[in-house]
Amino acid sequence: MVQLSRLSQVLQTAMPLTAVIDSALCVGAGGSTGSLADKPIVRLADGRLLIPGSQLKGRLRHECEKLARALGWPVCDSPVAETMCPQIGRDNSEFQRTDYQLAGKTFADGEPQHHCLVCQIFGNPTLPSRLIVDDLLCVEDPKNLPEVLRPGVTLNRRRRTAEDQKLYFLETSPVNVQLPFVGHLYFQSDSSQSDCPPYARALVLAALRHIHALGGSKSAGLGWLTWQIGNIEIDQRAWKSLKVGDAP
Ligand SMILES: [Zn+2]
Repeated sequence: MVQLSRLSQVLQTAMPLTAVIDSALCVGAGGSTGSLADKPIVRLADGRLLIPGSQLKGRLRHECEKLARALGWPVCDSPVAETMCPQIGRDNSEFQRTDYQLAGKTFADGEPQHHCLVCQIFGNPTLPSRLIVDDLLCVEDPKNLPEVLRPGVTLNRRRRTAEDQKLYFLETSPVNVQLPFVGHLYFQSDSSQSDCPPYARALVLAALRHIHALGGSKSAGLGWLTWQIGNIEIDQRAWKSLKVGDAP
């Protein structure tokens, strides 16, 4: 049951975020409605374009996993529940580190659970995510944005030729108009559990710098973007704490 009195205790820090689309965006959704495109872009009911937060969050998790592994931190295998945290320390000794233990998180037999750096931010089947990612909304009035269709053709990779009768249309945002999509990342701290770890903002910020494009057809020049990240303070100790991954 949702207890409103408890919800109000969740504190959060917001990181304002804008994706400026340098080329044109093709973040598609299946099931076309009201568009001639085979793959239309995602819109709100009032027609405004958006980049789904779930898509950005997935990319961020993937980039954070790569960075954390590169820094020497053991990271579980997402997104399959069986291979994700919580890890049992004695079976998986590399995960047996005190910074992977969370207050009050134990298995039924009292054995402490271990949650890797990335799960502590993005969650897993037993741990709620402490990072909430907004949908990024295009602030430009959709009336000023004409529908842009880009034709494509399906290639047969084996024969290296175009398939017959396989012309399709992608809907994209208008090309080269530097459209801004704005939203926030929220780092939560829930007073009933331990806080969003101090390194979370540092790691997510570094991961953002590794995302240069979103959506499909990147090799065709779609979806390339530049981030504008609002003011957010990151303690030097947070950066330092990320560097100790190799320490036992
Ligand atoms: Zn994990």
